[in-house]
Amino acid sequence: MKRKLDLIIFDLDGTLYPANPELDRLYPEAAVRLLIKKTGGNPEKVKQEFLTKKAELKEQLNGPPTSTLTLFYYYNIGFEEYENTLDAMIAVENFIAPDPQSIAVLRKINRHYPIFLYTTNNEKVGMKILQRLGLADFFPPQRRFTLTDAGRLRVPRREKLNYIKPGEKGFTRILELHNVPAERTLMVGDSEVSDIQPAQKLGLHTYHVTDRQSFYRLPVWLRI
Ligand SMILES: [Mg+2]
Repeated sequence: MKRKLDLIIFDLDGTLYPANPELDRLYPEAAVRLLIKKTGGNPEKVKQEFLTKKAELKEQLNGPPTSTLTLFYYYNIGFEEYENTLDAMIAVENFIAPDPQSIAVLRKINRHYPIFLYTTNNEKVGMKILQRLGLADFFPPQRRFTLTDAGRLRVPRREKLNYIKPGEKGFTRILELHNVPAERTLMVGDSEVSDIQPAQKLGLHTYHVTDRQSFYRLPVWLRI
């Protein structure tokens, strides 16, 4: 018998496609580039300060934060300007290739369960990645919550951070939107800090993606 779940939430980067160090490097690079532009500061100094802040946040979270969270946590940077900077820097086709097996896995899961995307990536870059992966149709606007959506919430800026993983409000918002209890929901992600720990704390089931093979095994784990 298949697992009784009312919703499966997927992370994007490192979950629906393998992490790519060259691509990952562009996120802190975009953050630093934006900070240099905004502050007119010395590039090396700005970079060092950013890395120090990221290490500080790592201590707080007991694990590495995303560059995105670090940027919004410590600096008054607009969601949109970061999104546009990244979008201009990232040519997804250079880093990401479609994977028929991942598409087949998602198609199979989607036949049995409602699926949703929760990502710290923004809408523009996230959509380009999904399109490149051939997964865009699985996650139309009502089936995803991106960094851009967190930025659009009509709450104070500080409060928006709670909607960025590993903040818990994004998870609870998704459960509320679908009217599903935590114990009938599965979080699928690659990050212990951003995906697994907060989901477990809220009582969701979790599935840790450690490599492609572990992602491919998800249907078997779901018993479908
Ligand atoms: Mg991830």
